[in-house]
Amino acid sequence: MNVDDTVNNYYEQILQRNAGEPEFHQAVAEVLQSLKVVLKKDAHYAEDGLIERMCEPERQIIFRVPWIDDHGDVQVNRGFRVQFNSVLGPYKGGLRFHASVNLGIIKFLGFEQIFKNSLTGLPIGGGKGGSDFDPKGKSDHEIMRFCQSFMTELHRHIGKDTDVPAGDIGVGGREIGYLFGQYRRMNNRHESGVLTGKGLNWGGSLVRTEATGYGTVYLTQEMLKAEGERLDGARVIVSGSGNVAIYAMEKAQELGATVVAFSDSSGYISCNDGVDIALLKDVKEKRRERVAQYAKEIDGATFHEGGNIWEVEADVALPCATQNELDGESARILADNGCRYVAEGANMPCQPEAIEVFRKRKIRFAPGKAANAGGVATSALEMQQNSSRDSWSFEYTDRRLRDIMRRIFVTTAHTAEEYDLPGDYVTGANIAGFKKVADAMLAQGVI
Ligand code: NDP
Repeated sequence: MNVDDTVNNYYEQILQRNAGEPEFHQAVAEVLQSLKVVLKKDAHYAEDGLIERMCEPERQIIFRVPWIDDHGDVQVNRGFRVQFNSVLGPYKGGLRFHASVNLGIIKFLGFEQIFKNSLTGLPIGGGKGGSDFDPKGKSDHEIMRFCQSFMTELHRHIGKDTDVPAGDIGVGGREIGYLFGQYRRMNNRHESGVLTGKGLNWGGSLVRTEATGYGTVYLTQEMLKAEGERLDGARVIVSGSGNVAIYAMEKAQELGATVVAFSDSSGYISCNDGVDIALLKDVKEKRRERVAQYAKEIDGATFHEGGNIWEVEADVALPCATQNELDGESARILADNGCRYVAEGANMPCQPEAIEVFRKRKIRFAPGKAANAGGVATSALEMQQNSSRDSWSFEYTDRRLRDIMRRIFVTTAHTAEEYDLPGDYVTGANIAGFKKVADAMLAQGVI
């Protein structure tokens, strides 16, 4: 059988075994496409059911999460943890609390996490979890009771050498605090390494809060440098206004760029002269309000309810909100308006048609596996500090993050060149991430 048929066969099996999980299919399809060139060169990667095993999670846990709301009524949500691959280290990946969460979404995120974590060069496997719980409009006490119930089941499946969750959409410092408190109570031990994204005075790491956004910008900087360009003076769009987006905006502006638009799920803000980061943090992080409120409190910012952020003119676009937020048509608009670089701060925010437009219009594109790996890499640095009962300075940790992002870019770019696809960072990241995991799986036998 030729390689194209072999890969098509794998994909057919995935569709059959994982019906109704379109995001998971999309994530697997992209990796399988990249693997065609690998299998043509190194047929041994098709042996021992390696690729079939890689696409099947080691373990999938689904559980009931009952909790009592502020009116005394019982609410029931569904919890998930997909432990995808532990060949390089303990399962590592965030928890997402959002109404849209289902098994297929957690599997797509867990699958991508395997290759991303491998790319960081750090000893971490891939996993992901979450719940269809919607944190919007809930009181602090409701969030706490939900987190406690969620951890009451999850605690038996995780541990510092087993599985180490962190935050993602809807899970920030507040939620990690409640989750850690319940874990500590149930296990009667202060096991710092079981969760990352912790508070700074109880085992957290400096730079973890900023890491995904900063890392995305560091990688973008490398991508521009490779073309002889600089971020300084560039106009940048950042979608979203959560953890990743805020710190991507902060770092981009620190490096001399102007952030001209950002958003939430209700619409976007245009702001020609840049973003007032302190005000934005106050609105979003402290007061937990919507972006429309930002525009009410400052001159020079306009709220576009339900508008398409990708219509704003910019040199660089950083989608930092959620999966599939940027479609083919939006990609064409970006290209027509002169955008030359796109880097994914979010996981899989660009639809396959959009990536195809970027390729045709010669827009340099960094996939999330490379561009947003700074978050999990700094989580691994938090685990290192927890193991040695140490804490590092902001400057040192930030330097480590910058070095890791530089190495990820170099590895990705070199791998693309090795396979005669210079500048194809999607294929470069997929192959580089894949090979390390594949070699370890072959070495450790059929399990
Ligand atoms: P947050 O919950 O902090 O923020 C999410 C942001 O995206 C919010 O502003 C939210 O707006 C917005 N958003 C969500 N859905 C949509 C939508 N359909 N349209 C427009 N905006 C939307 O999450 P994070 O910043 O942590 O995560 C963002 C992305 O980055 C996710 O894809 C996540 O998987 C990825 N990521 C996160 C990492 C981390 O360390 N946190 C690490 C690596 C990747 P609203 O409030 O209206 O919902």
